[in-house]
Amino acid sequence: MDLKSLIRDIPDFPKPGILFRDITTLLRDPDGLRYTVDVMADHFADASIDYVLGMESRGFIIGTPLAYKLGAGFIPVRKAGKLPSDVYSVEYALEYGTDRLEIHQDALHPASRVLIVDDLIATGGTAGATAQLVQQVGCEIAGFGFIIELTFLEGRKSLPSDVPIVTLVQY
Ligand code: 5GP
Repeated sequence: MDLKSLIRDIPDFPKPGILFRDITTLLRDPDGLRYTVDVMADHFADASIDYVLGMESRGFIIGTPLAYKLGAGFIPVRKAGKLPSDVYSVEYALEYGTDRLEIHQDALHPASRVLIVDDLIATGGTAGATAQLVQQVGCEIAGFGFIIELTFLEGRKSLPSDVPIVTLVQY
């Protein structure tokens, strides 16, 4: 299936000079949505995934059906201050300033095998920070899954080199 034809390009969003890859048009397409989840699940079907971690907020959309399909649980990784119980926290660099991602302290245990998913990897800052959160708990990252990879930003270099990275569409 030609996923690129279902992804909409929005120039100058969220600021001038940025070409935003809009996945809402892919999500609203029944065949596109099913194909995206099914193909990603096929890649990790034999990876013994216990939990899928999705990053706020588009990682939630793809991560939850993927967890369901893999027979795994879903764990949200959220922006600072959103999770109600005790959290582990990691700060990461943005283009200007920093941001913080959090996960519930009791969501993972050291024996867990996790799959980290998001809609898109750009610089790898978000996924790299999530990997740090997981490693803080001491459990194993079994893979990374992204619908879209902006290859020219070389985000892969921010992720552990020994972990499989699956991306469905590359720009
Ligand atoms: P990174 O941390 O790898 O630089 O940026 C990835 C994060 O920014 C992801 O959470 C992703 O949702 C968001 N993001 C950055 N650019 C785009 C884009 O063009 N389209 C979409 N859908 N998300 C983007």
